Amino acid sequence: MINFGYARATDVADAVRQIAADPAAKFIAGGTNLIDLMKYDVERPARLIDITRLPLKTVEETANGGLRIGALVPNSDLAYHPLIEERYPLLSSAILAGASQQLRNMASVGGNLLQRTRCLYFYDTATPCNKREPGSGCSAIDGINRNNAILGTSDACIATHPSDMCVALAALDATVHVAGPAGERAIRFADFHRLPGDAPQIDTNLAPTEIITAIELPPQGFAANYSYLKIRDRLSYAFALVSVAAALDLEGGRIKEARLALGGVAHKPWRKAEAEAALRGEVANQAAFTKAADILLRDAKGFAHNAFKISLARRAIERALTQAASGTPQSQSSKTIR
Ligand SMILES: Cc1cc2nc3c(=O)[nH]c(=O)nc-3n(C[C@H](O)[C@H](O)[C@H](O)COP(=O)(O)OP(=O)(O)OC[C@H]3O[C@@H](n4cnc5c(N)ncnc54)[C@H](O)[C@@H]3O)c2cc1C
Ligand code: SF4
Repeated sequence: MINFGYARATDVADAVRQIAADPAAKFIAGGTNLIDLMKYDVERPARLIDITRLPLKTVEETANGGLRIGALVPNSDLAYHPLIEERYPLLSSAILAGASQQLRNMASVGGNLLQRTRCLYFYDTATPCNKREPGSGCSAIDGINRNNAILGTSDACIATHPSDMCVALAALDATVHVAGPAGERAIRFADFHRLPGDAPQIDTNLAPTEIITAIELPPQGFAANYSYLKIRDRLSYAFALVSVAAALDLEGGRIKEARLALGGVAHKPWRKAEAEAALRGEVANQAAFTKAADILLRDAKGFAHNAFKISLARRAIERALTQAASGTPQSQSSKTIR
């Protein structure tokens, strides 16, 4: 029996005060990841600070035509929100490609960003893992690494970030709003998650005493030409081997603006400005898509069991961009899953 304390936060300021006063405490939202980690003895918070009653559950339009999404909006509510369905269907589609309906009902936006890797060894406390126990070694590099990363890896860790929602948020250029003892600040989505480097135990640039309050989406939602393509071992209820969020703004068959992000391949959603720049101004065809895929995957490095992800990712990028260009996204949309 491992004892832990429990307290409920009354407002955001109280949540920040409580976490700053107790470095061994953790926030709990939907609990769909944290409770599992506690059951597996991977995480041992001395106290849980329940944030589920904080007023962070609304989706509001911003003055510049974007949206502000509260950190406690459940994943299902967000996927089926009329403004998301209409203006950001890429986000809706990515959320619905993840987990199960029951999990999506519980899971929060903030928790989804902070969910931890699904590397097998991270959950197996009998094995060395630098992310779980810094300095102990990485069991995946020479072990079973089928689900691990091919981009942005280090000698210390080759884990992936498992979220689907985050891949769409990266492509949409979202901003993460947070509050902490020093006040509020905004973090560009591209800067929120980290690469493992020599400190793989730190997943993000959120300070331990900060709380995520909201995600902001800019006005451009790419609602006409987008695709979220998720390749996985089972058709549902499985994490991505490779996923692609593709979004295009087309004018007369040419690409005016392009966004391309990969999931399942790195410690964070993988984007490269150079790949998107290579698409801009080009005719939306196979040659342009292949060139962008080559640039995005240029530094990819496979390990014993996951080298297949490199060619899988290349084909998935080409397919997702083709679907986006033709306006026929094939992945789940909120219109087909109810
Ligand atoms: C079987 C299974 C399958 C799944 N499949 C997928 C999948 O295919 N794709 C996918 O994307 N996800 C998948 N998930 C993951 C799921 O989406 C996450 O578990 C969920 O989004 C986490 O949200 P939560 O609110 O439950 O977080 P919690 O478990 O409550 O918290 C997770 C972490 O976030 C912290 N936290 C939560 N909210 C905040 C906040 N506002 N500010 C600061 N810290 C906070 C907590 O302290 C904790 O460290 C799956 C989960 C399970 C169990
Ligand atoms: S890849 Fe990262 S999470 Fe997996 S065993 Fe190695 S250090 Fe741990």
